[in-house]
Amino acid sequence: MNHTLDLLLAVGLPTLAVLGTAAALVARRRGKAPELPPESTGPADVVTEAPAVDAPVPEAPIAEAPALDVPEPVIGRLARLRGRLARSGSPLGARLLAVLSRDHLTDDDWDELEETLLLADVGPGPTGELIDALRRRVRVEGIREPAAVRAVLREQLIALVDPALDRSLVTAPVIGADGAPRPAVVLVVGVNGTGKTTTVGKLARVLVAEGHTVVLGAADTFRAAAADQLATWGARVGVRTVRSDREGADPAAVAFDAVRSGCETGADVVLVDTAGRLQNKAGLMDELGKITRVIAREAPLSEVLLVLDATTGQNGLNQARVFAEVAGVTGIVLTKLDGTAKGGIVVAVQRELGVPVKLIGLGEGPDDLAPFDAEDFVDGLLGD
Ligand code: GDP
Repeated sequence: MNHTLDLLLAVGLPTLAVLGTAAALVARRRGKAPELPPESTGPADVVTEAPAVDAPVPEAPIAEAPALDVPEPVIGRLARLRGRLARSGSPLGARLLAVLSRDHLTDDDWDELEETLLLADVGPGPTGELIDALRRRVRVEGIREPAAVRAVLREQLIALVDPALDRSLVTAPVIGADGAPRPAVVLVVGVNGTGKTTTVGKLARVLVAEGHTVVLGAADTFRAAAADQLATWGARVGVRTVRSDREGADPAAVAFDAVRSGCETGADVVLVDTAGRLQNKAGLMDELGKITRVIAREAPLSEVLLVLDATTGQNGLNQARVFAEVAGVTGIVLTKLDGTAKGGIVVAVQRELGVPVKLIGLGEGPDDLAPFDAEDFVDGLLGD
């Protein structure tokens, strides 16, 4: 709220609306929330958080200009965050390299390598493949030097993570059936607590940094704080949030209004946050199915991003399977990689779902979201 007040003050008061607007501001200063302009008559009583960018042109002197955040450039983020990945105490890094630095690798050493990969959640199938390939190359090419073995390991790990996968996010506006442009709609799904709302907020910053116009949809209507959390993220970069003022409102109605608002305002991208209650599969299917159906009436879905907490291991993989079945996931966001020694989950989850990891979360900071890159990632795991 304070943000909104600051923003209104910052842009000044247009002469014609001096009395009305000033009264609203005074009321707000005294703690009364002025009514937001009705943005929608939709069934979810959806309101939009007034964005800085849509405010009237300033005529009066500017007071207390609130600075919008300037998100960090996206290029090179993963490299910058590499240290954090390395510091997560990854056994893939420290432990693998400890074994590989031995002069002659015995059977016990190979077993230790295999165990290390399994502990890092690489998964039994990919682990077996990697060890076989590594052993073969070490034998056939007569590699002895630890540094050379490390180089082969790096190559094999990169191959497992698969640099050929298309990890680009589809965020270009699309042309609707009527020939008019529509925003790209990105639906973000996953179990609560995995970092969905945070990811939507971080992603909005990435898109703003790249020059896109963005609208956020707070369709997680089951957690009262979720919409506030999302609106705060948006306000920091001048992005509008479409939300319901009613807890428990129909998430599909909020998603619909967000997409419609994006269409009406000519936004490039609409990011829709959803609730991820651990309900039964049928319930989840109903809820996400309804959301995707109503969105499709306004614009096609460009991406369905599944947010997974990298620290949850096999549990996370089980969740992933259910979401992939019900939601047609097109990309994975792996969060909390900064706090885990289980980076191998990247390999396991891609294998399991046949869908690429597109983004990774490496911290709670606003710019700690990076596009995934196979080589940078493996270098981060192995350390410099
Ligand atoms: P949601 O319920 O799925 O929307 O989850 P939230 O976005 O509210 O995030 C849950 C918690 O995870 C919050 O405390 C976030 O700050 C934290 N979180 C999200 N992403 C990351 C990440 O990449 N690294 C770390 N360390 N924490 C994260």
